[in-house]
Amino acid sequence: MTPANAPRLTALTFDLDDTLWANRAVMERAEAEHYAWLDGEIGHANDFPLEEYTRRRMALGLEHPLRRGDFTWLRREAMHAMLRDAGHDDEQAGHWSRAAIERFLALRHELTPFPEASELLDSLARDYRLGAITNGNVDLARLALDHHFEFSIAAGEWLAPKPDARPFLAAMARLGSRPSTTLHIGDSWKEDALPAARLGMQAAWIDVKGQGAPAPVPAGVHVISHVRELPALIARLND
Ligand SMILES: [Mg+2]
Repeated sequence: MTPANAPRLTALTFDLDDTLWANRAVMERAEAEHYAWLDGEIGHANDFPLEEYTRRRMALGLEHPLRRGDFTWLRREAMHAMLRDAGHDDEQAGHWSRAAIERFLALRHELTPFPEASELLDSLARDYRLGAITNGNVDLARLALDHHFEFSIAAGEWLAPKPDARPFLAAMARLGSRPSTTLHIGDSWKEDALPAARLGMQAAWIDVKGQGAPAPVPAGVHVISHVRELPALIARLND
């Protein structure tokens, strides 16, 4: 419930992956296909199966905690080192790792937003200022949804992935809004709902798996099951 004297919302910040599209299948396909493509070019996968690439990325993230959310860097570095270990010289390893990551990123942007998303954002943008905050390496500029948003913050590449407060604070500064007039929408309890609530923002947590919110639910957190429920929630909050 919103306190009776809660100010009206003026701005909305959106998480992207699994908030505006289902992301898991996109990532699984991108992961498998860019690796298979590289194997077709240089035949490295027999000695260095996909699991080894995954293991190296995770190890690199632990070695460089500040970079843990910079997934494109982790991929490129891990791939480069692996290709050197596969016997390629530094220049070749650099060439093929860059080419493979470009391939991955192209596939990663072959995604289909939820059918309601575009119209929903169009309608919300008439009344609210919209920004995006993602921990992933999706580049909103490569998607048709881009024009709905004033900006997109790639928090992982900023080396301040959510739940870090900085991307939220930066977003509100750019949207000219205060925490109490800003609603953050996202599917992660730890990276979206909790940090937004800690800052005094309103938060719409999308319970994608239908698990229910962990108790206690902080003040300002509202549970919905799909982004399509947002207009009804916003109407209630502004009532
Ligand atoms: Mg998400």
